[in-house]
Amino acid sequence: MTILVTGGAGYIGSHMVWELLDHDEEFIVVDNLATGFKWAVPDGVELIEADIGDQSRMEKIIKKNGVDTIIHFAGSVVVPESIENPLKYYQNNTANSRNLIAAAVETGVKRMIFSSTAAVYGNPVTTGPIAENAILNPLSPYGTSKLMTELMLRDTANAHDLNYVILRYFNVAGCDVHGRTGQSTDGATHLIKVACEAATGKRSSMKIFGTDYDTPDGTCIRDFIHVNDLVNAHYHAVKFLRDGGRKFTANCGYSKGYSVREVVDTVQRISGNRFKVIESERRAGDIESLTANCNRLMTRLDWRPQHDSLDTIVETALAWEKNMVSGSLAPEIADIEHTDEVA
Ligand code: UDP
Repeated sequence: MTILVTGGAGYIGSHMVWELLDHDEEFIVVDNLATGFKWAVPDGVELIEADIGDQSRMEKIIKKNGVDTIIHFAGSVVVPESIENPLKYYQNNTANSRNLIAAAVETGVKRMIFSSTAAVYGNPVTTGPIAENAILNPLSPYGTSKLMTELMLRDTANAHDLNYVILRYFNVAGCDVHGRTGQSTDGATHLIKVACEAATGKRSSMKIFGTDYDTPDGTCIRDFIHVNDLVNAHYHAVKFLRDGGRKFTANCGYSKGYSVREVVDTVQRISGNRFKVIESERRAGDIESLTANCNRLMTRLDWRPQHDSLDTIVETALAWEKNMVSGSLAPEIADIEHTDEVA
């Protein structure tokens, strides 16, 4: 039983790699290294440099390695970028996923776990944590590109012997609690990464996008989930499908929201650096408040969070950021040419 991890050299994918190693699973990684890093895949793990959109190559890789489960992370993840460049998102997240799903069907892969997003909900019409049966109304090409893949998976599973778990991530943050991997992509846009870069001096200031939202402190609210807990949810999803689970969609978060300002304050407190914060205009595509109802994940996948504290998220993110600055954990980082692309 071999698992294929797509995007395993990226931020979340490389944490999945360590989760699978910790559980002695057999697996391979496919990554085109557009935004991932070779060094993020540990020695001894097979990394195949390939594009998931290349259906015939993927079929060969799947057959050669006896893959029976795919955990599919590869894709692009920045909401504002998707508004500026929608076709990139429909290519990377939708069209390429279509070809990967086709390769899975052609080769008889029985199980797929797909990284989706809370962005499929758009602006929630009800207040409080959102459940999976809420209206799906994405407001960005990013959200739409992921929803389209959700629908392709659903329809394909109805027609073929393919079962799936779709995990809708809320805001993934933090880095491996053992310091083995972390969020390394250059040109960061995500809040906690940006704040940690400000705290370690990589940037001189940061902006808060929008302080006039209808929230207690006027800034947006998000549900941040520690990346180790998120990849552990994927491992539970693998077991669920192996045990005969079929078509299942679940939110991934902690059912608790923090405002952008609370997050920035936490990074300042833990780092001891009161870096400059500029209050700025709202950012296009941002949703006011997003928190997850995670009952399905807990009850059906038997998942329990282990690191559900904003302090832990920030501490691990800061630790990684500091190590990147000093070069002690990932010394090769300085030698790698970065693209401007963020995923
Ligand atoms: N945000 C911010 N400054 C930044 C980055 C993000 O104020 O430098 C805000 C952003 O406007 C949103 C929240 O932080 O309200 C989360 O944004 P992020 O890009 O981290 O994730 P998203 O929720 O868009 O997937």
